[in-house]
Amino acid sequence: MKEETRHFETELAVVGSGLAGCAASIFALNRKIKIAQVGNTGAVAYTTGYLDLLGAVEESSKAVENPWDGLELLKKSHPDHPLSHIPAQDIAEGFRQFTTFLGESGIAYTGPQETNITALTPAGTLKKTLCVPATMAAGPQAFAAQRPCVIIDFHGLKGFSAREVVANLRHKWPQLTAARVDFPDMEKGEIYPEVMARALEVAATRTRLAELLREAAGEIKTIGLPALLGMHTPDLVRSELERLTGLTIFEIPTMPPSVPGIRLREMFEQVFPQKGITLIPQQKITALSFAPDRAQLNLRDNYGPIVIHAKAVILATGRFLSGGLEAHITGITEPLLDLPVHQPPSRTDWYREQYTDRQGHLIHKAGIEIDASCRPLGKNGTPYHERLFAAGIILAHQDWIRGRSGAGIAIATAYKAVQAAEDLLHARI
Ligand SMILES: Cc1cc2nc3c(=O)[nH]c(=O)nc-3n(C[C@H](O)[C@H](O)[C@H](O)COP(=O)(O)OP(=O)(O)OC[C@H]3O[C@@H](n4cnc5c(N)ncnc54)[C@H](O)[C@@H]3O)c2cc1C
Repeated sequence: MKEETRHFETELAVVGSGLAGCAASIFALNRKIKIAQVGNTGAVAYTTGYLDLLGAVEESSKAVENPWDGLELLKKSHPDHPLSHIPAQDIAEGFRQFTTFLGESGIAYTGPQETNITALTPAGTLKKTLCVPATMAAGPQAFAAQRPCVIIDFHGLKGFSAREVVANLRHKWPQLTAARVDFPDMEKGEIYPEVMARALEVAATRTRLAELLREAAGEIKTIGLPALLGMHTPDLVRSELERLTGLTIFEIPTMPPSVPGIRLREMFEQVFPQKGITLIPQQKITALSFAPDRAQLNLRDNYGPIVIHAKAVILATGRFLSGGLEAHITGITEPLLDLPVHQPPSRTDWYREQYTDRQGHLIHKAGIEIDASCRPLGKNGTPYHERLFAAGIILAHQDWIRGRSGAGIAIATAYKAVQAAEDLLHARI
C-alpha cells in the first residue's frame, strides 16, 4: 500500500517536548500563535516536579536564597549564561504564565515568589527551588515551622525510604519520624510509584489507604508520602486523603522516572491538542531545512511520512539525554542541523580528574550559541537562519545541574524565544 504524506501548515514549529518545548508552546498559545510541536519522550519524566530558577551559583556550592538577587550576581560572574541576557521581569512572567497554565490544566503549582523555597529531595537532603506542585507545598511549610511529622513509605517500594529521609534530615528537623505501611491490594512483592499513582485515582483505594495512614500517623497531624498521589488529578487525590484522614499531607519527589514528571507529560499530551496545537508526540524530526519564506520539517510516524511547513522554528532538543547533542570520539555535535557546538577544545578536557571538583566539568557547559534574538549561530558566527530560534538546555555556557536551574533555563529562554519568533511573524516575512 502506498503511504500518503500528511502535510501541516503552521506559524511556529516547536522541536522538542521537554520543559523548554512545552513552555514555548504555552507562551505561543498565550500569544495566539498557531503551533505544531514534535518531540520524543524527554527529560520531563525524570524531573522531581520542582521548577528551579537558580539554586546555586555554579562554581560555589552555596545555596541561593533569593534567586532574583542571585541573577544579578550571575550577570557579573557569568555574563555568557543564558539567564544573564533575560530581564528578571520576563523570567518572572514566564514562570507565572507557565505555572498558571499548569494549574488551569489540572496540576496546581505555587507561583514564583520573592525567595526560593527550601524543598525536600528524595534522599531527605534539602534544595532550593522556585515553584513546587501544590501536592508538595505543605512539606517545606512543615519543615520551616518544625512541625512534628511522619514520613511514610510502603512495603515493596524501591527507591524511596522514609528511614533514609529521616536519617538525613533529623538533625535539621528533630520532630521527624518514619513509618512503613502496605499499599492496598499490593501487599506482596515489588511495587511501582506509577502503578500506585494510577490506583489512587480510584476512590475505594483512597479510602483503604487513608485508614492505614491514620493508624501510622498516631497522634501526629502532618505526614509526608512519596510522590504518587494520583496521575491525572493529584490535587483532588491529596485533598480527598486529607479529608479522609484529617491530616495534612504532602508529597516528596521520588527517584526518576518520577510520577510528577509523568503527570506533566501526560497532561501536556492531553491538553495541547484540545487547545488547538498540532502535537505529534513520541516522534523525532529527521530533517529540517529552510527556504527564504518558510521552514520544512520532516518526520514519520506509524502512518507514514509527515511534512510540516512553518514560518518559524524553535529548536528545544535538550542535551545528550534527549539527543539534542551527541558525544563522539571526535567531539560534540548537534545532529539535526550540524550547528556549531561550543565545547572544550579536546575530549580529554570534558571531565576534570575529580568527579566532585568544585569547578564542575566543562562538558556540562557545552551547547549551541545564540544571538540577542535567540537565533542559533551558524559556522560563520552569524545566525544560521532568521527563522530559527533556540531554547532550553541545548544552549551553551550554563551548567544547569550545578546551578539548580533546569526549569529556569527552559522556561526563561522559551519565553524569550517565543517573543523573538513573534516579532518575526509580525514582520510577516
Ligand atoms: C534526573 C533529572 C532530574 C531533574 N530534576 C529537576 C528539578 O528538580 N528541577 C528542575 O528545574 N529541573 C530538573 N531537571 C531538568 C529538567 O527536567 C529539564 O531537563 C530541563 O528543564 C531542560 O529541558 P529541555 O526542554 O531544554 O530539554 P529536555 O527535557 O532534554 O527535552 C528535549 C526534548 O527534545 C526532544 N528531541 C530531541 N531531538 C529531537 C528531534 N530531532 N525531533 C524532535 N524532538 C527531539 C526530546 O525528545 C525531548 O523531548 C531534571 C532533569 C533530570 C534528567
